[in-house]
Amino acid sequence: THPASAFADPAAGAAVKADDRAHVFHSWSAQGLIDPLAVAGAEGSYFWDYDGNRYLDFSSQLVNTNIGHQHPKVVAAIQEQAGKLCTLAPGFAVDVRSEAARLIAERTPGDLDKIFFTNGGAEAVENAVRMARLHTGRSKVLSTYRSYHGATAAAINLTGDPRRWPSDTASAGVVHFWGPFLYRSPFHAENEAQECERALAHLEQTIAFEGPQSIAAIILESVPGTAGIMVPPPGYLAGVREICDRYGIVYILDEVMAGFGRTGRWFAADHFDVTPDLLTFAKGVNSGYVPLGGVAISAEIAATFDQRPFPGGLTYSGHPLACASAVATINAMAEERIVENAAEIGENVIGPALREIAERHPSVGEVRGLGVFWALDLVKNKETREPLVAYNASGAANAPMAEFAAACKRAGLWPFVNMNRTHVVPPCTVTEAEAKEGLALLDEALTAADAHTDAG
Ligand code: PMP
Repeated sequence: THPASAFADPAAGAAVKADDRAHVFHSWSAQGLIDPLAVAGAEGSYFWDYDGNRYLDFSSQLVNTNIGHQHPKVVAAIQEQAGKLCTLAPGFAVDVRSEAARLIAERTPGDLDKIFFTNGGAEAVENAVRMARLHTGRSKVLSTYRSYHGATAAAINLTGDPRRWPSDTASAGVVHFWGPFLYRSPFHAENEAQECERALAHLEQTIAFEGPQSIAAIILESVPGTAGIMVPPPGYLAGVREICDRYGIVYILDEVMAGFGRTGRWFAADHFDVTPDLLTFAKGVNSGYVPLGGVAISAEIAATFDQRPFPGGLTYSGHPLACASAVATINAMAEERIVENAAEIGENVIGPALREIAERHPSVGEVRGLGVFWALDLVKNKETREPLVAYNASGAANAPMAEFAAACKRAGLWPFVNMNRTHVVPPCTVTEAEAKEGLALLDEALTAADAHTDAG
């Protein structure tokens, strides 16, 4: 690891900030209200600013650096590929693309053996929906309210939570329904079995009244991520499989965030023994070192496009640098038991510590997760479960979460905060010592959230 001084260069940091503020238009931000941290370097579970401050990355950036920062094998693979062949149109066969597709197909569930490459997650969702519509000849797509599927046109309309609102064109064919979530049950269920049964009955009713013959696909995050890491009750994902089969609906599981080790298995679907017809991935496939995503496709849907063209793809689809980094990432994850590490740290360290933290802090309503994929649902009041901030809170209304995040950052912990939740999503490579260090800092910072509860 680097000494703090290795990255300390305040003058350089000031220059980076000046150009950033003058010319960079940031995503998902009010440009005049943000103050982006200038980052000088990163390694493993940590990154450093230009003042030499070190941050433990409990966000994995946007939950994508599953293999940590600057993994030497992945960096070397990108360098080697750059020296050989930087770019090639998607229509050619190229060694690293072939190998990446095989390594992915060997790990995806069931017969998802054909891989369509994209540049990221939203584009994977767009193309999965396109495949489902062409395969079925139907147009509607059902998705859940508590979901995020990306920020491009179809993907943001499929997104169920308030991030959709500013871009909602009421896109033709998108229908939202409620997925299972016992802590804030839309079905007033009292236990997981009831939640599962009622959520499946609600989906059946939705399908019946939308008209099954008009529904191309149902898209679900196997474990919804930024909407709150809501692990589905046993039987739910398999129940949706059965419903899709009965009505000839394409089952799309979005594993952009949950895939590639995040949950302690290669794919979250593996926990539930379910195989979708299409599986979208991105992020962890190469830890985001070079933009990459894709769709894993069942034999039946692949056959639809055997004799007629699939009408989709972009100039950079399946980019050689991205594919080379995927090959190196997947091989390193297998060789270094990184998926197993995520499972063990989650079960033995993060899960137990978070449950213990929840008992002591009035702001922690519920702890949910598995692997290195956890959320703390922060509340004003544990009895009423009223969220600590309203959905989509901004400005003064978001003060409790902003103060909590600031307390984390002052202590050297970089959190992943969304609405009334903070997520504990370190790299899959996180060590026991790093996890404990971060959990202790989180514990301390939660007192800032406690102050805003009815108890505070
Ligand atoms: N689906 C899910 C489940 C995601 O979490 C995300 C990104 N957070 C996306 C799709 C969109 O991916 P991208 O930002 O790479 O387009």
